[in-house]
Amino acid sequence: MQTDFTLAQLADPEIEAADTILRKCVHCGFCTATCPTYVLLGDELDSPRGRIYLIKNLLESDQPPTAKVVKHIDRCLSCLSCITTCPASVDYMHLIDRARARIEQTFARPWPERMLRALLAFVVPSPGVFRLALKAAALGRPFKAMLPGRLKGMVDLAPARVPAASAIDRPRVFEAQGKYKGKRLKRVALMTGCAQQVLRPGINEATVRLLTRRGCQVVVAAGAGCCGALVHHMGREDQAQKQARANIEAWEKAGVEAVVINASGCGTTIKDYGWMLKHDPAWAGRAARIADLARDVTEIMSELGVGEVTEKGLPVVTYHSACSMQHGQGLREEPKALLTAAGFEVREPAEGHLCCGSAGTYNMLQPALAGRLLERKVENLKRAGGAVIATGNIGCLEQIAGGFAKNPGKNGGPPVVHTVELLDWATGGPKPPGV
Ligand code: SF4
Ligand code: SF4
Repeated sequence: MQTDFTLAQLADPEIEAADTILRKCVHCGFCTATCPTYVLLGDELDSPRGRIYLIKNLLESDQPPTAKVVKHIDRCLSCLSCITTCPASVDYMHLIDRARARIEQTFARPWPERMLRALLAFVVPSPGVFRLALKAAALGRPFKAMLPGRLKGMVDLAPARVPAASAIDRPRVFEAQGKYKGKRLKRVALMTGCAQQVLRPGINEATVRLLTRRGCQVVVAAGAGCCGALVHHMGREDQAQKQARANIEAWEKAGVEAVVINASGCGTTIKDYGWMLKHDPAWAGRAARIADLARDVTEIMSELGVGEVTEKGLPVVTYHSACSMQHGQGLREEPKALLTAAGFEVREPAEGHLCCGSAGTYNMLQPALAGRLLERKVENLKRAGGAVIATGNIGCLEQIAGGFAKNPGKNGGPPVVHTVELLDWATGGPKPPGV
């Protein structure tokens, strides 16, 4: 694609990087076929190629975007399916990130939208505040008809019962277990995250059991918290970078050989810390080193092996690959291979490349489109017919569980669990809830 940036514009390293990305696009349009919003809406401006043109014009113009441009950019899920499909390796992820940051800096959103985004950016990354908000939402459910617009939908997304906080998420060290006691194979940090530890504390508990059983000493580092993905996808660069720096500092101090992440949305962002802080001389090298240490839990487990399987007669599992897992991190085979090695029969749904509509805060900010994608995903998962659904990202897990709760089918909805909960169960841990 030809671009028309001025030399003055190109002096900005962010614009220079965007220009390099834009020039790789050859307009072929292959990406449109696998883009969820184009599949649903059939509008070129809701396809990757259309958005790339919008972003080019936005960045070249030096003017605030129009409401129309913002509408089409906001509809992008950042699912990165287009990156998997693109034959020219166009780095759409960093391009849409730049557009979101530009919109955040220059576009005056209507105030209810601003309030909603500010609320999400404040509440969700902080586990204590998020837990309180979910409890308030559960109490407010009977009054939801009185709430305005999307707040109603957000109350629906909140679980009926908020689990108690797990002691596992407090800073401490968990020693390797069993035959590895005193002879650890690796010292790793577990990123305990933000929303996940509130919604499903059992996932971090299963991860610690699994890793320590396979010879890891697991550190929950003091000072680490939200990875920054949530605000990053809202274009709030400063807040995202602040959260990234806090994590980098915490994991450096922990002195670990790997940072293990069990939410693939977070993993995609942490693996990108090097890019996020590349223009900050004090942090660029440190960020790149931590990004190099970042591993999804299924990558580490693939190295360590699942170990001795103690559970027999395990159910058939339908594996839902999160977009951040398959498109963001390119991890397609590892989770399925681990489940198979643990004794599960693994099935995959049709249209597995299409997003379930969760996409960070997308299901709250774009509920109509997210709902359509969810319906489609639930239908495909039902057809696959597994007794349990497994995934590696808390956003998908909650979204799909909510979809089945609304539309359970004749045998009720299958339980939706994290891959590590199944691996832990098969190798000596407790049965995951609902299975
Ligand atoms: S990130 Fe997903 S929704 Fe956005 S343009 Fe690419 S394929 Fe479409
Ligand atoms: S597939 Fe790649 S090169 Fe082709 S239009 Fe899409 S982004 Fe551009």
